[in-house]
Amino acid sequence: MRQPLGVVAGITPFNFPAMVPMWMFPIAISCGNTFILKPSEKDPSCSIMLAQLLAEAGLPEGVFNVVNGDKETVDAILDNPVIKAVSFVGSTPIAKYIYENSAKNEKRVQALGGAKNHLVVMPDCDLDGAVNGLMGAAYGSAGERCMAQSVAVAVGDIGDELVSRLSKKAEALKVGPGMDKASEMGPLVTKEHLERVRGYVDLGVKEGAKLVVDGRDLKLQGYENGFYIGGCLFDHVNRDMRIYKEEIFGPVLSVVRVKNFEEAAKLINDHEYGNGVSIYTRDGDTGRTFASKIQVGMVGINVPIPVPMAFHSFGGWKRSLFGDSAMHGMEGIKFYTKLKTVTSRWPSGIRSNVEFVMPTMK
Ligand code: NAD
Repeated sequence: MRQPLGVVAGITPFNFPAMVPMWMFPIAISCGNTFILKPSEKDPSCSIMLAQLLAEAGLPEGVFNVVNGDKETVDAILDNPVIKAVSFVGSTPIAKYIYENSAKNEKRVQALGGAKNHLVVMPDCDLDGAVNGLMGAAYGSAGERCMAQSVAVAVGDIGDELVSRLSKKAEALKVGPGMDKASEMGPLVTKEHLERVRGYVDLGVKEGAKLVVDGRDLKLQGYENGFYIGGCLFDHVNRDMRIYKEEIFGPVLSVVRVKNFEEAAKLINDHEYGNGVSIYTRDGDTGRTFASKIQVGMVGINVPIPVPMAFHSFGGWKRSLFGDSAMHGMEGIKFYTKLKTVTSRWPSGIRSNVEFVMPTMK
């Protein structure tokens, strides 16, 4: 039988303050555990609303708990022997820290980290579909998604046409406050993050990539102090550049040009991250080979953001996930329960002989 672990905790990032905790606590609680949520200190109020809704729905006191704070609170969770398992979602350095320290303290752990997702554009694809897919996947939520497609891999001779179509759309992006329904892209989360993203764009120029669309100087009337940056598009990015290797987590799309499918697959397989990846092609053999050979946890074929449907589990490979299991779905049930194997028999009468071998079913 599978039984609950007891008290379990979730430590979550700023960018999905409702969805990411909901990958964790519904499964944990359904499996019979109690749950402590430590949300991001950057947007803590959503978790309080979740707690209020659960209380209103009749969840008994103490089953779902919210503890706010930053590293100090995280360390208190990692050090507390009552907490039996930790689920984490956030950046890779912190995911590794959580993984190592939970294991050191004998806790079960799953720690999802950062990403650098590629979308491969094959020469035979529906290019309009690929361009529209890339626009939403690269610039939606201002690129602050672990499933954002931040690298477009242009295969064969598709590069010029791809960049020309992307640049027109990136220049026309409607940037504005998130509450305005006409906005396609809102601000970044903090001033520090805005400076970091701008810094990466400056770095890309220094590294020799071609900045085709430059959103650095965007100023919105009435929101001059907001943390806004326009969409940025780099062409001729290569695998040695830091803007290619590192997660920027902003509205910056890099185009890398490769000769063929094999080179595209090698590029992706060599990358340290392995969260999500997509390919646009009309060729079934290419799609099937890609799905089978690519070293990434979540794969899309003619789908821009390969977030699995809710009944599947969510999780990447390589340095995008530390631990043995993805979140949610069947993997979540396994993570939040431990296996107990009960062997029993009910013989009639008293057994007179001593058995020196393992009992069997006879
Ligand atoms: P983050 O790593 O800064 O913070 C995540 C959590 O860790 C927060 O609760 C924070 O309080 C805590 N934390 C921060 N610094 C810590 C420290 N030194 N010691 C202990 N705890 C610490 O991440 P973020 O900026 O909130 O979120 C963005 C990151 O999350 C990106 O890298 C993104 O790719 C990643 N992310 C990954 C997934 C996924 O499914 N793989 C999903 C969403 C976000």
